[in-house]
Amino acid sequence: MPDMSNHSRGSALLLSRLQSSLAQRREQQLLRTHLVRGNADQVTMSVDGEELLGFCSNDYLGLANHPDVIAALQKGARDYGVGSGASHLITGHCRVHDQLSEELAAFTGREKALLFCSGYMANVGVINALTEPDGLVLQDALNHASLLDGGWLSRGRSIRYAHSDTDSLELELRQAAAAPSRLIVTDGVFSMDGDRAPLALLAEIADEHRAALMVDDAHGLGVLGRNGSGTVSAAGLSQAQVPILIGTLGKAFGTAGAFVAGDAVLIDYLAQFARTYVFTTAMPPALAEATRASLKLVVGEQWRRDRLQQLISGFRRGAAELGLVLLPSETPVQAVMMGSAEAAVRASQLLRAQGVQVSAIRPPTVPQGQSRLRITLSAAHSDEQLDRLLHALESVQRQLFSMGQPAALTKAGQEVRI
Ligand code: PMP
Repeated sequence: MPDMSNHSRGSALLLSRLQSSLAQRREQQLLRTHLVRGNADQVTMSVDGEELLGFCSNDYLGLANHPDVIAALQKGARDYGVGSGASHLITGHCRVHDQLSEELAAFTGREKALLFCSGYMANVGVINALTEPDGLVLQDALNHASLLDGGWLSRGRSIRYAHSDTDSLELELRQAAAAPSRLIVTDGVFSMDGDRAPLALLAEIADEHRAALMVDDAHGLGVLGRNGSGTVSAAGLSQAQVPILIGTLGKAFGTAGAFVAGDAVLIDYLAQFARTYVFTTAMPPALAEATRASLKLVVGEQWRRDRLQQLISGFRRGAAELGLVLLPSETPVQAVMMGSAEAAVRASQLLRAQGVQVSAIRPPTVPQGQSRLRITLSAAHSDEQLDRLLHALESVQRQLFSMGQPAALTKAGQEVRI
C-alpha cells in the first residue's frame, strides 16, 4: 500500500478505494495498459524500440498516414491555426467545418450533418438530446459503450434487447407501448464481433411501433456499401427509414471526430440541444480539412475496399484451416474466441513474443467467458504480413496446448479445458 500519511482523510479514503479496484482488476487479468507507439505507421509499429506487426488499429483503409491527409492537416493549420479557440456556437466554427459537414451529408445521402469531437461525444449528446423524460431507449445488448452510456445518462428509460434479436426487441416495444417516445439504437457493424445489425428488419419494426431508428455506423462507413457509404446505404435504407445516422472519423477515415447526419430539422435541433456539441471546444479546423482529404480518398479509391475484402477472405480461409473459432464477420473486425480472460491475455502475449500485436479483449468490453483476440485488418496490410499473422496464430495454438492452458483456441467452437 502507498504511504497515505500526507493525505487528508477524504483523499486517503478515495485513493485507497481506487488502489483496491486497480488491484482487483490486476488479479482478474483485466488491467489494461498503454502500448506506447513511437512512429506513424499503424501496421509496422515501433514500440519501445521493437518493431511490431499490428492488427489492432481501426485505420481500415490505411488513411491515417496518407500524404494527402497529412498535407491537408498542415494546410488547415496554416489557414486556421491549431486550436479552434471556442465552441462551435461562440467563435470556434470555421468555413471548413461547414464544407466538411456538407460533404459528409452528401456522402451519406442525408440533408445535413453536424460535427462532433468524437464518436463517444456524438452518441452521448445525440441520445440525450433526443430522449424526453420517460422516453424509451432500446439498445442492442452489444452496442458500443458510448451508446449505452448515452442511454443511461439520459432522462429516459434504457432497455437492452438480445443481440440482433428482433423478437426480443418487439417484445420490449409491445410492453412499453405507453412510453411517450421510442428510440431504437444499434451499431451498424458491432465493434467487438464484426457482424452487421439486421437493419432492414429494424427499420420495419421501428416504423410499425412508431419508434425512431438510430444507427452508429462507426465500423461500416468507408468500408461497406457503394463508395464506402456504409451499412445503412448498403441495406438500401433512406433518411426516412434511418433518421439518425452516426459516423466516426477516427476509423476508416483515419482522422478523428464524428458526425450525425439526417433531416435538417434534426440537425438544427441537435446544434441547439446536444450538450456535447454546445458545451465543448469545436473540432480543430485543420482536422476538418484533413478529413475532407480523406473523404475524397474514401470515395475515390475503391481499390482500398477491394484489397480489404481480399485480406478478410484470406484471413478467414487461413484461420479455418487452423481450426480457429471465429465469429461470423465479413468486416475487418475478426474475433478469435478464447473464452477466459486469462487465455486471451496469454495468447496476446505469445503473439507479441513473435512480434505480432493483437489486443486481448476482455470484460467489461465483452461478456464474461467471451474474451477474445480482436484482429483488425487494414488495406495497408500486405499478403506477407497476413501470412505472418496466421503462422504466429498457429504457433500460439500449439504453445497453448503444450502449456496445458486452462483454455485454448479450439476447433469445436467452445473453450477447451486440458
Ligand atoms: N461507436 C462505435 C461503434 C465505436 O466502436 C467507437 C470507438 N471504438 C465509438 C463509437 C467511439 O468513437 P470515438 O473513438 O470517435 O470516440
